[in-house]
Amino acid sequence: MMQVPLSVGSLLEHAEKFFPKKEVISQTHDVLHRLNYGEIGQRTRRLMSIMNELGIRKGDRIGTLAWNHHRHLEIYFAAPGMGSVLHTINIRLSPEDIIYIINHAKDKILFIDEDILPLIEHIHTHLKTVEAFVVMTDKAELPDSTIQPLYSYEELLSTGDPTYEFANDIDENQPAGMCYTSATTGKPKGVVYSHRAIVLHSFALGLADTAGLSESDVSMPVVPQFHVNAWGTPFACTWFGSTQVMPGPRFTPKRLAEFIERFKVTITAGVPTIWLGLLRELEQGNYDTSSLRAVLCGGSAAPLGLIKAFEEKHNIPFYHAYGATETTPLVTISRLKSYQQDLTLEEKFQERSRQGILVPGLQMKVVGDSGEVEWNGKEMGELLLKGPWIADEYYKDARSDDAFKDGWFHTGDVVTVDEEGTIKIVDRTKDLIKSGGEWISSVEIENAIMAHNAVFEASVVAIADEKWQERPVACVVLHEGQENAVKKDDIIEFLKPQFPKWWLPDDVLFFEEIPKSSVGKFLKRELREQVKARYSPQG
Ligand code: ADP
Repeated sequence: MMQVPLSVGSLLEHAEKFFPKKEVISQTHDVLHRLNYGEIGQRTRRLMSIMNELGIRKGDRIGTLAWNHHRHLEIYFAAPGMGSVLHTINIRLSPEDIIYIINHAKDKILFIDEDILPLIEHIHTHLKTVEAFVVMTDKAELPDSTIQPLYSYEELLSTGDPTYEFANDIDENQPAGMCYTSATTGKPKGVVYSHRAIVLHSFALGLADTAGLSESDVSMPVVPQFHVNAWGTPFACTWFGSTQVMPGPRFTPKRLAEFIERFKVTITAGVPTIWLGLLRELEQGNYDTSSLRAVLCGGSAAPLGLIKAFEEKHNIPFYHAYGATETTPLVTISRLKSYQQDLTLEEKFQERSRQGILVPGLQMKVVGDSGEVEWNGKEMGELLLKGPWIADEYYKDARSDDAFKDGWFHTGDVVTVDEEGTIKIVDRTKDLIKSGGEWISSVEIENAIMAHNAVFEASVVAIADEKWQERPVACVVLHEGQENAVKKDDIIEFLKPQFPKWWLPDDVLFFEEIPKSSVGKFLKRELREQVKARYSPQG
């Protein structure tokens, strides 16, 4: 067969040719834009020609600090399209982490949303490699700024060449993009995506038994474009000619609900906290969400109660998926097999609250203390992965040696696998609670607590214990108006029938909010500190 390199630029070229009328609907700060793939293609070509004039060459890193919108989408294709590297930067990280990331990646140019400019003003003197800053504004004039040289995205584009060609000498193994992990577990680590990985991952998103993305979809990625490329959906949706709805800067649950109704969104993707927020909004307002065929939920465990609320109260199909920055990210998705349709409704929900089975194209292995575990749904081990869209190192980082060994990526996630091959994430290795030589899954207890009607969210962490080494403590946020309705004993009584006695939390602490990471995950590091402070208040 022919050896044809897989390239990211070719995905947009396909959309330009076959879906020039299909639209990208994009909310920016001030304007709702509607552009078709013909226009997006021409603008992307203009952008490549401009970057070429600004001195961007093959392999250079192009940093973005931006929300989900069409300009960000254009850079998604322009950077790899000319052989340089798209580097999406998580705008919610601390300024120190952002400085570290930009210097470590050696970004040559930064594309910045207007509301993020103040952050860059604050740090730009620490940026060692950046030669040009481009602000993505709708306004005719550049905002006042001390940053130099500062360009306006639209002004640059207006002088660009709409016929500029995508690079035709792409090696499919060369870098197309990079993204740093969200630092839930320490300093951010860089992951480099090849053209080949992104294209093969896009195929995987189109499979009927995964996300089944297709031309007829209206896709609204809520997961940020700076978080594992919005889970790769902008690449796949462009290729397939799906309509895309980009919710823009600082969106609210209200905007999401309105966009779903107004643009008849069929599929959307995000982390559980987003869906908890949307659920609240759907309960307050009266929205038509009947267009939705799938809500994809990943990034941290989707509580059973959340899945049930979407499906039973709102008739919205809800799919639990699992992945990581190192995996481009799709690894598993939870869908029932044909012969599992006979299960009872409750059994189906239980099954679908697990993370699901491996998508075709990847390999997995689950390794416990004494080798590979049995697929019995009980034995726990660390999940190891291999495949064409799994990273094989961190970018220039000594921590690679711990995570990438013997040709496998060691995820740091502890799982069980049942007879069907369905995995269930029990915990992260470092969050497991080791009590009296046995392991307690913090995730299982928190999910059980979140099924309580009065509970908005819950997180469980270990506290040091002289006798048992570690013991679980539950941190609970109650729904508004329920603050006095539930006490520690109510939560413990609620859990009793579901767990062995030694799994029950020693204490239940009530919080107004659980600290979260930049991408909405429980920040257990920080929570452990807060719990410690409650037990030993200063003075
Ligand atoms: P970070 O490692 O900084 O949190 P990532 O966004 O790459 O950044 O997170 C990947 C991790 O998120 C996985 O290793 C896993 O622990 C967790 N995760 C992702 N999806 C799920 C899920 N569906 N259920 C439970 N945990 C998940």
